[in-house]
Amino acid sequence: MLTNRQLFQQFLAQTSDSPIGLEIEYAEGMYLYSADGKKYMDLISGISVSNTGHRHPEVVTAIKDQADNYLHLMVYGEYILSPQVKLAHQLAHILPLALQNTYFVNSGSEAVEGALKLAKRYTGRQEIIAFHNAYHGGTHGSLSVMGDETLKKPFYPLLPGIKHIEINDINGLASISNTTACVILEPIQGEAGVIISDMQFLQALRDKCTSTGALLIFDEAQSGFGRTGSMFAFEKYQLVPDILVLAKGMGGGLPIGAFISSQEIMSSLSHDPILGHITTFGGNPVCCAASLANLNVILKEKLQDSVPSKSELFRSLLSGLHGVVDYRSAGLLIAVELDSFVSVKKVINQSLEKGLIVDWFLFNASSIRIAPPLIITMDEIRMACGILKEAISETMNGI
Ligand code: PMP
Repeated sequence: MLTNRQLFQQFLAQTSDSPIGLEIEYAEGMYLYSADGKKYMDLISGISVSNTGHRHPEVVTAIKDQADNYLHLMVYGEYILSPQVKLAHQLAHILPLALQNTYFVNSGSEAVEGALKLAKRYTGRQEIIAFHNAYHGGTHGSLSVMGDETLKKPFYPLLPGIKHIEINDINGLASISNTTACVILEPIQGEAGVIISDMQFLQALRDKCTSTGALLIFDEAQSGFGRTGSMFAFEKYQLVPDILVLAKGMGGGLPIGAFISSQEIMSSLSHDPILGHITTFGGNPVCCAASLANLNVILKEKLQDSVPSKSELFRSLLSGLHGVVDYRSAGLLIAVELDSFVSVKKVINQSLEKGLIVDWFLFNASSIRIAPPLIITMDEIRMACGILKEAISETMNGI
């Protein structure tokens, strides 16, 4: 009989020749438990997804309750589904007036696709401005705005009319004109290894978009839902994007994404043509119920408020270590930069052996990714950093 590992290798499409290959039987809170009985502390949250921890009891209850009522009933936008309307209402409650109208989809990539289409449709323009080192997803449209050639090139032709500029370079904003449909940006670039936008740059970008009529899209798939210390990263910059993209931490572990705008902008998807964006599963009732419970947990427990002190503790324990050449963080999205990918890979493997899960970044392979569930305690941070310190020191000393 084939083992699960053999079945995984033979019957599941592989995305690299070195998958982590952990087999998890059970997960709860901060921890994953493997089929061979080992306990792992999760410092990556399934890549910024499990912000409220794994299987938060309120999320699980909401899933079970909704499963008792109905699952899928109809494609998005036709029936009134109470989990959808409650979630959209709660999002509107916590978002500014310009972001009161939500379109639910299934993933970050799909939310980016919807946002780009919406901007083109609303402005009647075609040009899109994006940023070097940006990551927006794996579909053709989201790949087109990605700021890295290696992952894009084999899939050409992609969308035409896209220019890439540099984050935090105010001179680059001259590329935005009255033929630009939109500018899409991660306010905190995740896969680039936690590159943080300057306040001055973002305010100048906001002004330039307003004066040219280009829509400003913030992709907060990774920075949303408390991860950087506010519910959404844009809140810290005293400005509001025209379209907000959400995903990952939105579902408490279930797949859901959204693009959010004003009713005026969003209404352009309902005419000329009607059904300007269609999804069968977007806003799935079980995912919406889980997402609402997840959001309410963050709000009730004020998880984002604990992020700055937790982030500072990580910094104080890791940033000065021998072998750490740079340290960047936006709340609990942290990059610990070493000298090379080889060192990062060794630290990841050694940490895994010691029961700690960390990872690397797509466009910054010499940095260790840390993005724990926001529920991590101060003691757990000390314990995790103790293990990481050992792994970094063993790696640097060639052990
Ligand atoms: N945007 C950003 C900023 C992301 O980090 C990601 C995923 N890493 C995506 C979009 C794509 O999301 P998904 O994988 O759910 O399609």
